[in-house]
Amino acid sequence: MKITGVESFVLRIPTPKPISLEFPEHRLVVASIQTDEGLSGLGYSLAFGGGGAEAIQVYLETRLTPLLLGEDPLFVERLWERMFRFDRGIKRQGVAAYALSALDIGLWDIVGKAAGLPLYKLWGAGSDRIPAYGSGGWPRYTLADLIGEAERYASMGCRYYKLKIHDPDPRVNRQRVEAVREALGEGVRLMVDANQKLDVVGAIRQARLLEDLDLVWYEEPVLADDIAACAEVARSIRIPVATGENNYTRFEFRELIERRAARYLMPDVCRANGFSETLRIGRLAAAHQVAVSPHVVHELSLHVAGALANGFLVEFIDWTPPDLFVEMPRCEDGHFRIPDRPGHGMALAPGAERKYRVR
Ligand SMILES: [Mg+2]
Repeated sequence: MKITGVESFVLRIPTPKPISLEFPEHRLVVASIQTDEGLSGLGYSLAFGGGGAEAIQVYLETRLTPLLLGEDPLFVERLWERMFRFDRGIKRQGVAAYALSALDIGLWDIVGKAAGLPLYKLWGAGSDRIPAYGSGGWPRYTLADLIGEAERYASMGCRYYKLKIHDPDPRVNRQRVEAVREALGEGVRLMVDANQKLDVVGAIRQARLLEDLDLVWYEEPVLADDIAACAEVARSIRIPVATGENNYTRFEFRELIERRAARYLMPDVCRANGFSETLRIGRLAAAHQVAVSPHVVHELSLHVAGALANGFLVEFIDWTPPDLFVEMPRCEDGHFRIPDRPGHGMALAPGAERKYRVR
């Protein structure tokens, strides 16, 4: 089999309320990989909030696509290495990793379709049903928005909900966590996310104010670049730390693990160089008693969680309009059944490209 073409484009997709209060849109950088045997693969990377999508698409098209043309798509490892090691002078991660991720996801989609298997089974399935946590709670939400969103996820059976702790006053963050806890009761456990906004002292001070609330985890307390700082926070507080959505390679994750910087790692398949590297990260974590809870894009991440014995919750942000994909996995009783269609099982709905494509 040979790759005959890669078509790439950007989709701009408006978000529903209350998510739109914080992020009016997200963008997908889509890569459709064609082969001479009629099989095609769909890859995409989610540019959360839309930022950088155009740069990712240009990098994907001008630098990475030429490396794939004429190659056998079943040699994913070889092609991954070729893409990863290309352009070492100008790229490190970021934009280039989002682009590589989309192509790696598309290559695996072809492998799954060629094998006639969903990816999680191709990789040796551990589970076909994955628990999810509802995620959101952004700072622009009023208390009513926040509680409304949390209750909506709880009504879908989610036993976990995550909210942001972005207020400069740590007491305000505590009040918001308490308000959600009171509204949801004992049946739902909470996690909080600082999104890299704190320094070590601030993160420890905030955590002390939250330690009695039985939180599942305390996410991204400090800049993702500063793994030493994350480790210092993890050593100093009594809530397990989660991080990794802004780390990109097994080498960065190895350092997070060796420094004991987190109990939960959250690689993002659209950032961390695709399914290939995310699986390597997951297996590395398994050797260290660390759980993996993949970041966003649950419709893709489900396959990773289903293939790993140390896979934990997937992050469920219910934002996609019904006319974007042919069939989004549905949340039932707080769980997703992994699609049993060959490959990752996701396809753009007819008309989605016409409706959402950025011209
Ligand atoms: Mg986060």
